[in-house]
Amino acid sequence: MNEAAALADRFQHVFGHSPETIWSAPGRVNVIGEHTDYNEGFVLPFALEQRVYAAASHRVDGWVVARSVQVPSEVAAVEAHSLRPDARPDGWLAYPLGVVWALRTLGATGGLDLLVDGNVPLGSGLSSSAALECAVGCAIADLAGVQLSRVDLALACQIAEREFVGVPCGPMDQLAALLCTAGHVLFIDTRDLDRRQVPLDPASSGHTLLLIDTKVRHSLASSAYADRRRSCERAAKWLGVRALRDLHVADLEVATGELHDLSLARRVKHVVTENARVCAAVQVLEEGLLEDLGPLLTGSHISLRDDYEVSCLELDLAAEAAERGGALGARMIGGGFGGSVLVLADTTAEASIRSSIVTAFAERDLREPDISCATPSTGASEHFIATTVAHS
Ligand code: ADP
Ligand code: MG
Repeated sequence: MNEAAALADRFQHVFGHSPETIWSAPGRVNVIGEHTDYNEGFVLPFALEQRVYAAASHRVDGWVVARSVQVPSEVAAVEAHSLRPDARPDGWLAYPLGVVWALRTLGATGGLDLLVDGNVPLGSGLSSSAALECAVGCAIADLAGVQLSRVDLALACQIAEREFVGVPCGPMDQLAALLCTAGHVLFIDTRDLDRRQVPLDPASSGHTLLLIDTKVRHSLASSAYADRRRSCERAAKWLGVRALRDLHVADLEVATGELHDLSLARRVKHVVTENARVCAAVQVLEEGLLEDLGPLLTGSHISLRDDYEVSCLELDLAAEAAERGGALGARMIGGGFGGSVLVLADTTAEASIRSSIVTAFAERDLREPDISCATPSTGASEHFIATTVAHS
């Protein structure tokens, strides 16, 4: 039985009736373009095969009853009209209730029974939170019969995460969950949300994308993120531009001289060169030169490590071991100080890369990372479950 059919069965068991709609939305990997989104720059995510599923049906009493297979102990039963960010629940329920709250202003006002299940790892930087929001958002809009474009739905889910859950995220994760298509990455200009699909089908050219989950998350992560954001805003103001996205590689020498602060100049250098690497990546993918993506990934990692200073021992170790094992390129993904590394390789090098990474971590007595293949997959989709009609 597939995941959606299993969820429909479980829904029937929990709520005593069938779901009226089932949607799923994927986690994502950002191929390149790290710490560029809050500088109004470029990003290049693709959807993972791993997804969050949401099954839902109307409630006439206006209540929201929400459950997750992953967090069975935390169940919500609240009146939809009473939801307020300043009275949000702790834990996972803030995400679906935030989406209910955000979509009420767009006309989806009813109550619902909701059951969630998923296989996107939680908190690993693969954006299970946006997958959850977008699956729930699609189900709610569908139940309410509210016609929303996928971009509007993505922005509503982003508002849910920013204003209800309280996480200062950009729109990339929700746009990726809703708009990505199989065999493509989504090139997004985060300034105006202009975007286009760019082909990425590694298997067709004998390549593979590996995800190395280091399973570490150092406590520095959120304070460093806030610090880097502030640094970028300060530098942009000092240099007289709206955002660092407005600077180009050719401007860096003059900018460095004007900043009088070497550390700040290195932060600027990362953002400016990273935006250039995203554009170069789009070009090589559109020309079908996947192997040329490798050096761009490695360049991104070095820039994040040396100029933006958001890497850590485990990320560097995984990236370096992958390269020693024969990878074409590797880089840390996500905010930094833990999480995962993305590796591009010839399929024939996969075994030696895996063993190089496992050995490097074992030699240092570090926990063995999870290694999996990532395939650019489809964005949010509806699942139709065949129902058996009983005849008397
Ligand atoms: P990431 O988005 O990188 O996975 P976040 O911390 O942003 O990490 O979001 C993870 C949170 O999203 C989890 O702690 C949980 O609250 C919620 N979440 C994601 N998927 C599910 C799920 N299937 N069931 C319940 N909660 C989920
Ligand atoms: Mg998240």
